[in-house]
Amino acid sequence: MSQSSPPIVVIGAGLVGLCTALTLQTRGRQVHLIDPGQPGSGASQGNPGGLSVTSIFPMAVPGIHKKVPGWLLDPLGPLAIRWSHLPALAPWMIRFLQAANPEQVARGVAGLFALTGGAVEGYTALAARAQASALIRADGHLMVYRSAAVMAQEDGAWKKRAALGIAFDTLDADTLRQMEPELDPAFVCGRYVPGNAHCTDPLRLAGHFVQALQRDGGIVSRVAATGFDLVDGQVRGVRTDAGVIAASHVVLCAGAHSAPLARQLGNRVALEPERGYHAQITDCDVVLQRPVFSTEAKVFAASMVDGLRFAGTAEFAGANAAPDWRRADGLLSLGKSLFPRLAQNGQTVSRWMGLRPSTPDGLPVLGRAAAASNAILAFGHGHIGVTSAPMTARVVDALIHDETAPVPLLPYRPERFSRGG
Ligand SMILES: Cc1cc2nc3c(=O)[nH]c(=O)nc-3n(C[C@H](O)[C@H](O)[C@H](O)COP(=O)(O)OP(=O)(O)OC[C@H]3O[C@@H](n4cnc5c(N)ncnc54)[C@H](O)[C@@H]3O)c2cc1C
Repeated sequence: MSQSSPPIVVIGAGLVGLCTALTLQTRGRQVHLIDPGQPGSGASQGNPGGLSVTSIFPMAVPGIHKKVPGWLLDPLGPLAIRWSHLPALAPWMIRFLQAANPEQVARGVAGLFALTGGAVEGYTALAARAQASALIRADGHLMVYRSAAVMAQEDGAWKKRAALGIAFDTLDADTLRQMEPELDPAFVCGRYVPGNAHCTDPLRLAGHFVQALQRDGGIVSRVAATGFDLVDGQVRGVRTDAGVIAASHVVLCAGAHSAPLARQLGNRVALEPERGYHAQITDCDVVLQRPVFSTEAKVFAASMVDGLRFAGTAEFAGANAAPDWRRADGLLSLGKSLFPRLAQNGQTVSRWMGLRPSTPDGLPVLGRAAAASNAILAFGHGHIGVTSAPMTARVVDALIHDETAPVPLLPYRPERFSRGG
């Protein structure tokens, strides 16, 4: 590619867009990354940074419809629907319930396993290049249970993980205590996944990625994409609120905000801003050795650079409704019940809400756009966007360079939401 050809324009500077921009730059491509906000300040900001190769099950699994009513009735429950949003949500929700069948779950597991693989290696390399290696901790994850019976209910899922080669250890109460001394003694068993890892500050990592991109000649602009100049089935330019940027290729990574732009590129997608929350205690001396997840409480706890973060919950209320901070407070209560010393320790709490870009089948939209062969769609990573960003970047890189993708692309095809797709 000659120096004078236009850059690849990457829309969206979340971790998906940033990993993609850095990966394309490694290939010697000129990259122009655009985002109206601070890079990394979308969903990528306040999540707990779990790099989780075990997150291979979509949310829509058989039997989910039986659990939903109980969750909705529980004010601290993991799921909430704001009823005024129900009419807008209904088509997505119908697809979600339709996806809860064994065949689709098998496709989902294959698709998520492929994309989450290589996450730790991917971040290790990108963080080293961005002089941010200290933000990636390869200490594994702990899954903890108050009851052996509850742990046993998940045996089937863990057998599937083992069959795919994901290593884990089953722990008794003593080992659990040794590994995580702060944990409530009521937790009697657990599983340890040595291959999972953790980013201790995703927003700071995003800042380092931007610096690395700019240092190596990339352009980063605080502008919003509004549309495209399309000529003969090719994008020639990205329209923005500050004019048109000429483009050799376009990669759409605008997270939960991607659907209107995808539509202009010929793809109608089912994408819902699935709201999640965190509560973070910023002044406590309870430090976890590694992230801890309680399946019973459905809360993910991780020690971050700036404090102890509790994250989780799924709320369907649309993108623009005011946050319901009771959900963050609920996470805080659940988190405190995991670590008893928090009862007397740490009073300063920050709260955050972010929009997961969620599809009904739990798989991202990843592939060429219908109306422009030089436009790649790369969004919709739902609960695992941090983990799957490095592999997504490799897929985009392969598509742009007409090479064989590192993973089979069928599960993520953008047209699967269209009639007959
Ligand atoms: C509570 C919670 C916990 C989570 N925990 C984990 C976890 O432990 N591990 C994990 O892997 N994932 C986790 N996730 C999911 C993860 O955060 C997301 O999947 C991921 O951040 C999505 O990244 P993204 O780059 O696609 O989107 P974002 O980070 O949202 O970035 C999209 C960017 O696009 C920009 N944008 C929007 N519109 C435009 C436009 N028109 N033009 C230009 N730019 C635009 C936005 O400003 C934004 O910066 C969690 C999410 C939540 C909410």
